Amino acid sequence: MRAVGRWYKEVQTLLLLVALAVAVGLWIGSVWAALSLVLAWRLVVYLWQLRRVLSWIDQPEAEPPEGSGVWGMMLDQMYAIQRHNRDARSRLQHTVDYLRDSFRSLRDGAILIDQNGNIQWSNQSAERLLGLRYPQDKGQALLSLVRYPEFSTYLLDGDYQQPRVFATPGYPQRHFQVEVSSFGVGDRLILVRDVTRMVQIEQTRQDFIGNVSHELRTPLTVISGYLDTILDNDANIPLNLRKPLQQMSQQAERMENLVRDLLWLSKIEAAEGKRIDQETVCLGSLLTELAEELKTAYPTRDIERLTTSDAKVQGDYRELYSAISNLVVNAIKYSPEGTPVVVSYGADEQGVLTLSVKDAGLGIAEEHLPRLTERFYRVDESRSFAGGGTGLGLAIVKHVAASHNAVLSIHSELGKGSEFSLKFPEVSAATGAEANVA
Ligand code: ADP
Repeated sequence: MRAVGRWYKEVQTLLLLVALAVAVGLWIGSVWAALSLVLAWRLVVYLWQLRRVLSWIDQPEAEPPEGSGVWGMMLDQMYAIQRHNRDARSRLQHTVDYLRDSFRSLRDGAILIDQNGNIQWSNQSAERLLGLRYPQDKGQALLSLVRYPEFSTYLLDGDYQQPRVFATPGYPQRHFQVEVSSFGVGDRLILVRDVTRMVQIEQTRQDFIGNVSHELRTPLTVISGYLDTILDNDANIPLNLRKPLQQMSQQAERMENLVRDLLWLSKIEAAEGKRIDQETVCLGSLLTELAEELKTAYPTRDIERLTTSDAKVQGDYRELYSAISNLVVNAIKYSPEGTPVVVSYGADEQGVLTLSVKDAGLGIAEEHLPRLTERFYRVDESRSFAGGGTGLGLAIVKHVAASHNAVLSIHSELGKGSEFSLKFPEVSAATGAEANVA
């Protein structure tokens, strides 16, 4: 029976009792007395039932009292709702405990902070890595307890798209990787990982490449110096030795280029994220200088420049020059004589400056694109060697882009040509609208 049906039944019972009381009243000659007696009895019953319900509400853990009629039904319903809520709460608590346990067992430090930056929760690894104690530090401002300048800058910056690695001050220096995820109304989950070992291995790798390249430079200079001297007096060279000596000279030159690029790459890598002295670089002047230099190396090729901005970027002139030069030289190397190489740059309304180098050459098949910026990755060995490439050009471009907060994107179609673009985030000068073709 539905709950409202019970109400009708209750009213029916009451009316029946009233009718009975009236009948008995008429029989004994006192209708009002019989009626009052019956109504008073019902009132006492209702008040007693109400008291039982209210005392159960005071002790909800206890079983509900037995009740009949509408009261029994009400108690049953309330008990069912209460049991359902209790089960839901315990399931929720179980899930929360489970999640907390898994976070607690994380090797990474996990910290939850609210919109004011106050600690809501942290795990044991956060204590090991950052010295945060839970629950003692609950409600405290995280930045007043963790006082690493780079960590504070990252947290206050609000741009959490990329994780950040920072070194702790003091000795022994440790490196932490911090990742922040925002949720709710300004709440944040912070994951901290100790990456000291990884940073050390990476440092050793960089130092090794740098040192080996440096050590190779002197013997190579001596070898190619002697070869050049010998080949300068080719009249004295026996005929059967001429070709081998020329090939030795070519290979020595290739090795010198390789060592030069490796040294340059390790220098750029070492400077990544540590550059303090930034300069304002005018890409227009840089392109003019580059075009002049390439005129000597590739006199038959025209480089078209389309400039729609006089905007400047913050960075290192030599690094930017080497990156853009690699892109332009590649465009020349991998496109046939007579086809255009177009270098264009301009800023959009958001101030994003894009420099792109476009050729109508061989193009690159799609499957090679994701690996193109890896060191020594070549689409086709023979075509690269013929052009004298070291296989490090695009790796240099990638690192220069990263250290200038720029994004390198590549569009290419096999047989049609390629376009390599560098998108720089900041522009420091007003944009013009002239078209400069050289
Ligand atoms: P490399 O010294 O061999 O040119 P890079 O790192 O500069 O090395 O380039 C990697 C590979 O990408 C090259 O070997 C070449 O196959 C391909 N590549 C680079 N630029 C272009 C381009 N503009 N057109 C076609 N292929 C290109």
